[in-house]
Amino acid sequence: MGILDEDVARVREATDLVALAGEHLALKRIGRRYTGLCPFHTEKSPSFTINPELGVYYCFGCQARGDAITFIREVEHLDFVEAVERLSARAGITLRYDDASFSKERARKQRLHEAVTESIGFYHRLLLDDDEAGGARRYLRGRGFDGDAVRKFSLGFAPDSYDRLSVHLQQSKFSRDDIVAAGLAFVNKSNRLQDSFRARLMFPIWDGRGEAVGFGGRTLTDQGPKYKNSAETPIYHKSRLLYGLNWAKGEIVARGEVVLCEGYTDVMAFHLAGVPNAVATCGTALADDHFAILKNLARKITLAYDADAAGQAAAERCYTWEQRFEVQFQVADLSKGRDPADVWKDDPAELARAVGDATPFLEFRIDRLLDAADIVGLEGRARAAEQAAALIGEHPSDLVRDQYVMSLAGRLDIDADRLRSAVARSRAGERQTLRERDPEDGRSGTGPAPGQAVDRRELDALRWAIHAPEIVGSRIDAAMFADPLARTAFEALAGADEFLDAIGGSAPEVAALIERLAVEDPEASGEDQETLVRHVVVNLVDASSRRLLESMLRTGDERSPALKALIDVLVSERDAGDWKAAEVAAEQLVGWQTDVAEWR
Ligand SMILES: [Zn+2]
Repeated sequence: MGILDEDVARVREATDLVALAGEHLALKRIGRRYTGLCPFHTEKSPSFTINPELGVYYCFGCQARGDAITFIREVEHLDFVEAVERLSARAGITLRYDDASFSKERARKQRLHEAVTESIGFYHRLLLDDDEAGGARRYLRGRGFDGDAVRKFSLGFAPDSYDRLSVHLQQSKFSRDDIVAAGLAFVNKSNRLQDSFRARLMFPIWDGRGEAVGFGGRTLTDQGPKYKNSAETPIYHKSRLLYGLNWAKGEIVARGEVVLCEGYTDVMAFHLAGVPNAVATCGTALADDHFAILKNLARKITLAYDADAAGQAAAERCYTWEQRFEVQFQVADLSKGRDPADVWKDDPAELARAVGDATPFLEFRIDRLLDAADIVGLEGRARAAEQAAALIGEHPSDLVRDQYVMSLAGRLDIDADRLRSAVARSRAGERQTLRERDPEDGRSGTGPAPGQAVDRRELDALRWAIHAPEIVGSRIDAAMFADPLARTAFEALAGADEFLDAIGGSAPEVAALIERLAVEDPEASGEDQETLVRHVVVNLVDASSRRLLESMLRTGDERSPALKALIDVLVSERDAGDWKAAEVAAEQLVGWQTDVAEWR
């Protein structure tokens, strides 16, 4: 049941996966592949890879894989049929269905889009020409928007009439059902169609694909709420819409940043001021659903609310979003108490500047606090420090908190430790979030103390074991790893046939380390892989041998001079640039380590 198989195949063939994926993430060509940051999991270095010849993708980080249809399904949360329909529309292919009900559902949504499109044209013509729209035109001019802006954003005017739009749509052969289902009118008590919007300035809303879905209407009288939006319909889901996304999508991806404002005129102002990556929520606060769209497009979210609103934006939610979706909030510092559209009218350049100078959320809040505080006197300074410490205490990352503590200590000329304890007090009761290693796991006597970071060279060796297991295979041995966690991870990788088995069969902590390293590239510096792996082996063995030597010296082991001599060979060959000879020494050292481990 669904779309005919041969049509699905035609759509698959006609779709360029690189072009399609490029609309959702920035891709970089590397040899014959394309890579980018994976849209299906959060990562900092690209592990999402496309093979354009085969038309398939694979993510080394989360193992997401598939073709163009899978890609669009997962990235836009569609079912199979919707995904094929989306791609067929792009490729200009008309689909045939083996069940009439599918065609009907699709055709119905299409009619609703058409009814909204027709209404946009109707309202737009009224705004441009109708006598009754004089007030709306004056309002727009007063806010600095001219005829070009009206045309660019297809603004419209809903007249103060019961049914002018409904009559027009019915004359244009739209059925009562469709008009009502599209949220353009409702059936009133006398069983007649009555327009949903009256005496309002109309902002048409398109979804991210560019399909017309509804309206936001601003009142021109003092009647009713200031803004009114389309009701939820089969095509209008306010929690999943961002006004302006149809225009901004490409720029958001290209810049890796989205400017988020609160109102329709704010979005217009930013676009006219040369900041084309601005969008706004549609009559609803920013919520989890919006991130389903945003996190696939950009990691940096610049809040361009008026300064008071931005300062009050719930810190806790922002930090939660930052962690959950790996996005980063910053705040554009607009003149106090003014929204972007007002700023634009006076000085368009200030908008671009405010976005360019945006500061991280916490920094913005501290700046505002200190700007308002009296920090000249001793007591005022202490009070400001106490309040700022409370703001810092809300941030979930101890590293970030400490950075702010240091900076604030300098700014207020207050002892950093005093400030640190003020932050700690404000966090009192919160659980320590630092992950601590299970002491049971510390099996190796020569390994680093629990909680200590894994050696950088060991991490790199693991990366190679993940990314190029065929090369690393026999060259690296578990005994080379001093860190018990790294060693267990290596054993899991070496013992599994498939990468996924290594993760599946491991303890959560080990699996997490492997997964993390899988999305990171091994350290590479332009040499061939063979040489690079040789570097890894030599450096790894150098480190583990020195640790072995240290422990032998501590226990007065009589074999330590022989071990030291062998390490010296490795070092001198390496320093002379003969990595091959250094690797021979390394192999002998591995033999040593294995023997010593057995003797103990
Ligand atoms: Zn991924």
